[in-house]
Amino acid sequence: MRVVVIGAGIMGAAVAAGLTRRGARVTVLEERFAGAGTTGTSFGWVSANHADSEPYFTLTHAAVHAHHALGSDAFVPTGHLVWATGRPGLEDLNRRVDWLASRDYAVERVTAERAAELEPGLTRRPEGTDYALFPEEAHVYPARLLGRLLAEARAGGAEVETGVAVREIRSGPAGANVVLADGGVHTTDFVVSCTGRWTGLLLDVAMLDPRMPGADTGGFLATTTPVPAPLSRVLSTDRLSVRPDGGGRLLLRAPDLDVSADPALPASHRVGAELLARLPELLTGTDGAHLEHIRVAQHAAPAHGRTAAGFVDEAGRVYTVITRDGITLAPLLADLVAGELHGAESALLGPFRPGADLLAFPSGSPLGPG
Ligand SMILES: Cc1cc2nc3c(=O)[nH]c(=O)nc-3n(C[C@H](O)[C@H](O)[C@H](O)COP(=O)(O)OP(=O)(O)OC[C@H]3O[C@@H](n4cnc5c(N)ncnc54)[C@H](O)[C@@H]3O)c2cc1C
Repeated sequence: MRVVVIGAGIMGAAVAAGLTRRGARVTVLEERFAGAGTTGTSFGWVSANHADSEPYFTLTHAAVHAHHALGSDAFVPTGHLVWATGRPGLEDLNRRVDWLASRDYAVERVTAERAAELEPGLTRRPEGTDYALFPEEAHVYPARLLGRLLAEARAGGAEVETGVAVREIRSGPAGANVVLADGGVHTTDFVVSCTGRWTGLLLDVAMLDPRMPGADTGGFLATTTPVPAPLSRVLSTDRLSVRPDGGGRLLLRAPDLDVSADPALPASHRVGAELLARLPELLTGTDGAHLEHIRVAQHAAPAHGRTAAGFVDEAGRVYTVITRDGITLAPLLADLVAGELHGAESALLGPFRPGADLLAFPSGSPLGPG
């Protein structure tokens, strides 16, 4: 089977690796360079904590396990520590923990003393703070995972061509033609589009529109200079999420600040200052920390929901994957998408076909809208 994979972000790399494992002859075509898209600006948290529906929880939960099974050196399986103080944060956290525990999601309530043992740099919290540890959650260094998957694909015979822009895909019962910007054509059995936020330029798929009011299409990611603050896992509160970013650097994000993220404008100095001001609320040794850089990152997302995966043409030759949880999903989708191209339809992906109706937890559910 010949397959052209378009895009060398985390999804293209994962799908290429999954396909070569099954013996497919794979060509990856990337317009710029590997990691040039959203994958190059990702927080890299592996988690099912942000699922927006029960089937999505099942998918992302399986994806967390797939990371553990892959066990790449980009994967840091140290868990995620979260805490809350005061209502309604405490109520939200406790409902979330109960719900996830009832679905066999690994979660432990921990005392303040245990939290301090786990993270000696933790800032002392006031009485009445509850902590939870999600021991199977993790973070990855996205560029390293991307490299790991591309190396596997190459070792399996995949050709990875960068600086090659695809302009059109034509499909029919016998296969597909992939038309390049320079006029060249690749003839293939199947095409998998992993073009992230550019998917709407190639395929007739409804994408999240950044012009829609309230569209959550971007976010700030800030990296500190090296700081003397020991940290080994993802920490999150309703004010800040932070994880180690190598060499003593910390990666920061605060979703409540993302409303002002505009990819057309440079990241504002004020947002960087606010992220830094929040850091000592979580970690000691971070007073006076500086930012090495702050970036405005853009999500890759379908118009509805967090992920869409499936065939988009009548002939069943052109498949697309669009996701805003690509780091979490990559190892699982590597296998599921490759399987679907070989005729093994995935029940896990069934609810997430392109154009499918939006699934959502009812309002007030533990992982759903408040
Ligand atoms: C602020 C932020 C934080 C995030 N945090 C997390 C997280 O903690 N955990 C998590 O799981 N996910 C997270 N994500 C989401 C995750 O990063 C993305 O889902 C993932 O990187 C998408 O990967 P992709 O391969 O689909 O797209 P991309 O990485 O964008 O790759 C698409 C590639 O296709 C190429 N391309 C596009 N059009 C063409 C064409 N016509 N021809 C050839 N090549 C083309 C592009 O150049 C690009 O390299 C975050 C995203 C953001 C913005």
